[in-house]
This record gives sequence, C-alpha cells and structure tokens, in this order.
Amino acid sequence: MPEIIPDLPISNDQLKALFDYLDQPNPMPCMHTFKETTEFLISNHLPIKETLHWLGENGAGCDCEVIFNTDAEWGETVGRVPSDEDL
Ligand SMILES: [Zn+2]
Repeated sequence: MPEIIPDLPISNDQLKALFDYLDQPNPMPCMHTFKETTEFLISNHLPIKETLHWLGENGAGCDCEVIFNTDAEWGETVGRVPSDEDL
C-alpha cells in the first residue's frame, strides 16, 4: 500500500518523478523560482497551482528547496533512495 501524503494533489509516483526530474547531478543555479517545477508540471499535464501550493506548504519556496526540503521530508515515502550524504 502506498503511504498517503496529506493533501498532495498529484500521485506519489508523480511526486517521485518530479523529485527525480529536479535532482540532477549538475543542476543549473537556482533562480529562486519554480521554473523547473512548473515546466515539469506543464509537460506532464499536472495541476500547477495546487501542486505549487502543496510544495510551499511542505517547505519549498523554489526549485532547489523542493529537493532540499520536500524531498528530504517525503522522498522515501514515494520510493526515492536516500542519498549517501545522509550517512
Ligand atoms: Zn532555490
């Protein structure tokens, strides 16, 4: 059974795909916007406003904070492998 994430407007698998999309080995410098996140949501036909609102409620104010904060909180729940940095 997948764990239920409170108020998440997209599926757990879609959230995992977003984390995978943003978590690149050599990311562009973050512009402190949701530019990359928004592009992902558009190309996957996901609800933009609701998802950005949820991310904001879960620690993210921009693309890099989605990884630093939201992935750190929910990544394992949606099946992401914890990074070595945490060891
Ligand atoms: Zn940022």
